[in-house]
Order: sequence, then C-alpha cells, then structure tokens
Amino acid sequence: MLIIGSHVGFKKDTQLLGSLEETLSYGANTFMFYTGAPQNTMRYAINDELTSKALKIIKEKGIDYAKVIVHAPYIVNLANNSDPEKYEFSIKFLKEEVNRCNQLGIKYLVLHPGSHVGLGVDVGIKNIATALNIILEDSEVTILLETMAGKGSEIGSTFKEIKKIISLIKNKDKIGVCLDTCHLNDAGYDVTDFNQLLDYFDEIVGIDYVKCIHINDSKNIKGSHKDRHENIGFGTIGFSSLIKIIYNERLESIPKILETPYVGKNPPYKDEIEMIKNKKFDQNIKERLEKQV
Ligand code: FE
Ligand code: FE
Ligand code: ZN
Repeated sequence: MLIIGSHVGFKKDTQLLGSLEETLSYGANTFMFYTGAPQNTMRYAINDELTSKALKIIKEKGIDYAKVIVHAPYIVNLANNSDPEKYEFSIKFLKEEVNRCNQLGIKYLVLHPGSHVGLGVDVGIKNIATALNIILEDSEVTILLETMAGKGSEIGSTFKEIKKIISLIKNKDKIGVCLDTCHLNDAGYDVTDFNQLLDYFDEIVGIDYVKCIHINDSKNIKGSHKDRHENIGFGTIGFSSLIKIIYNERLESIPKILETPYVGKNPPYKDEIEMIKNKKFDQNIKERLEKQV
C-alpha cells in the first residue's frame, strides 16, 4: 500500500488534531510536522488531550502512526561548535524535541545533520556524532539524518558522509536516514535510475537505515547544490522519474512525504497526491491553484 502525505502545520491551539485534519483534507495517509515554526526554536507544551483525540481518529482511519514523522527545526546545527553556547543549546533543544516526540508517541525525528561553517567536514562529523550520542542516550525516538543538497558547508550530501556519522553512533538502533529526492539530485546523484542509486546507498550505508523519503521535484539541475524544491512534475527530475521512486517496491513500507512549495497561497498537496495516485501528470494544477482564493 502506498504511504503518502506531506508536511502539515502544527498549531498551538489544535496541535496533532489540526495536523491530522489537514492531512485528511489532502487525501493523505501519513504526515510530517514541525512541533512549532521550522525556522525557530520557540516551542509550547504538548496538550495531551488534543493528542489523544487525534490518536483515536488516526486509529479509526487506519493511519500507521508509527510512521508519522516530526522534522527538527532547520536552525539547530550540531556540526559547528565554535560557539560552545550555541552548540550546547542545539543539543539541549534536540533532547527536549525527543521528549516532545515521546510525549506525542512519535517514533521518528528527521534532522539536517548540520553545516561545519569552516571547521571542515571531519570536525563537523565528529561534532554531529558527539551531540547525537548525548541526545540518543536512553532515547526511544530514532533520529533520521536527512541527505542534503550540499549547499554552503552542509554535511550529509554524500552517502559516505552519512555513513561516517552513523559509524560513530553508539546506539545504532536509534539512528536512520531520510532520503530527499530534490537534495539527492542537487547533490549530484542520478535519481532517474533509483534502483541503481539504492544499490549504491545499500553498499555504502545500508538500505535498512532508510525510514522516510521526501518527495520533491527540483528547480535546479543535478549537482547544482542549491536545494530549491519544485512541485511534482514541474522540475528537473520530472513526473515519471518521481513516480518510479514513489512506487519502487523496495521503498513500499517507507512513508513518502511531499515538501513541495505552495502555489500562491495554496498548498499543492491534495492535487499532487491525486496525480500520484492516478500516476498521471496534470500540467494545469499550478494555474488552477494560483487562481484559487
Ligand atoms: Fe528537511
Ligand atoms: Fe527534505
Ligand atoms: Zn530541502
């Protein structure tokens, strides 16, 4: 069965219940959310009443909650420790984020490995692993390292770097990987033959580490190191290649999450999920969404 959804909001007053309602409005059967704004670390307390209300509906709808994902805010940076206070803050914040996931019953937390900002890849990797070993101590949540586009000094744009981080993690049951099709393309990998790419990933890292895949088209060509997501079928990867990835048998049990851009003020996810289910590209969706109020 296809497990598909998108990133959805998580608002102070509605929390998981609001995220679920948004998910259902897209015809999705999984979702990913940030526990607050992606670009900051302001977080409010989890409301258990809203959580249990949502969990009841999740059960009724047959959604596999074990595969619902939280994404850590992208400003935490575990790779750079030149400001010890900032580094400590990132560790503390992620510890709390793991606790929030626990309280919500979430199993997977996606994390951008971080940017070394001049310290060099090796030092950056060491910093990431040191921090993760603290964060993952006694953790029931698995952290998924996202493969990155390689913008600036981002770590994790090659499978070898991902492998190096994992090799330094003590609690290997609690570490995994989230692939991102736009990031893979921008990092220089050929996603048009995904079976071959998965073979290569398996050789370097191990395919069993993959627990989530972000499905995005890319505004830029392979190897551009840009990281600008495009709507499904409108970018350089293209509809048929993305469909092949989404329906790849080796990824069947893995949740597919859309992080494609809004069109005007409108989320594209309902239309994109419909296209994906029909396996048929609709080149008019952007125009239609732009006109919607
Ligand atoms: Fe991400
Ligand atoms: Fe992503
Ligand atoms: Zn991205």
